[in-house]
This record gives sequence, C-alpha cells and structure tokens, in this order.
Amino acid sequence: MRFLNRKSKHITSALTPHISAASQHPFAMASEKDAALASDSPTIFDKIINKEIPANVVYEDDKVLAFRDIAPQAPTHIVLIPKVKDGLTGLSKAEERHCEILGHLLYTAKVVAKQEGLEEGFRVVINDGPSGCQSVYHIHVHLLGGRQMSWPPG
Ligand code: AMP
Repeated sequence: MRFLNRKSKHITSALTPHISAASQHPFAMASEKDAALASDSPTIFDKIINKEIPANVVYEDDKVLAFRDIAPQAPTHIVLIPKVKDGLTGLSKAEERHCEILGHLLYTAKVVAKQEGLEEGFRVVINDGPSGCQSVYHIHVHLLGGRQMSWPPG
C-alpha cells in the first residue's frame, strides 16, 4: 500500500490528487511515470515554484530553487530543482541543451552544502524512474548530510 512506502511518498500523493487517483491502480508507478512523461504535466514542485503551496526555501536564484524535503532522510535533506523544467522530468530525459542547468544544479548543491555547514561531507542523489524510486517527475537533486552515510544505498 502506498502509505507504507519507505520514502513516505504518500505526502506527495496527498498533495497531488491526480497522482492519488492513479495510485489505486496496481501498476500505479508505471502509470504515473507514463502520464508525467507523456504530458510533461505539472507536479507538486510547480506549485512550490509558483508559491501555491509553502516550502522551506534555503536558496534561490534565477534558475534554481532549493528547499527542505518534507520527509527528511537525514538531519539535512534539501531538494534542488530547476525553476524551468524544459522537459527534464528526470535525468534520463536529459539532452545536450540541459548541460548548463544540470551543471548549475550540481554546483548549487555544493553552495548549499557549504551554507548548511556540511563541512564533513554530504551526499547528492538523483532518483530516476520507477526502479530509481523517483516519485516527482520534475528533475531534482537531493542533498543529504548531517549524519554518516552508508554504502551501498538502499
Ligand atoms: P524522489 O523520490 O526522488 O522523486 O524525491 C521527491 C522528494 O520530494 C521526496 O523526498 C519527497 O519527500 C519530496 N517532497 C514531496 N513533496 C514535497 C513538498 N511539498 N515539500 C518538500 N518536499 C517534498
């Protein structure tokens, strides 16, 4: 059942009714992904960008927004997103024109890590697709820190 998902993705679903409905289907993840990729439809992150729902923003510039994850997996857990998706529902959709924003996202992760005082190290993660456990189809970088990470990841 979706509410038992180890990454608390029910929070995203609760805030996105169209995804909630889709999650009743036994092949929900594939259906959500197909719908998102087919239509490049808005996600919960568009609502954050448009300030339709609140977020704890820690960094913003003209291209990138960074905010605290609503279901943190580490003492510091920040999500960095491009303000313009431009077809980048996930990393697997990247094309050459996206190189600049992808670089900017990674560089900004480093800037925010410093801002958050993660001097001892941190981890960046990009989940892609159902097997990568992606739940929001607007590319994003997770910045995690403040505890000892382990390897391999789950
Ligand atoms: P992923 O599973 O890689 O697609 O990551 C999506 C992340 O977005 C998850 O870690 C969620 O906890 C997070 N998330 C979903 N909705 C919100 C929200 N409204 N505010 C902050 N983080 C969110």
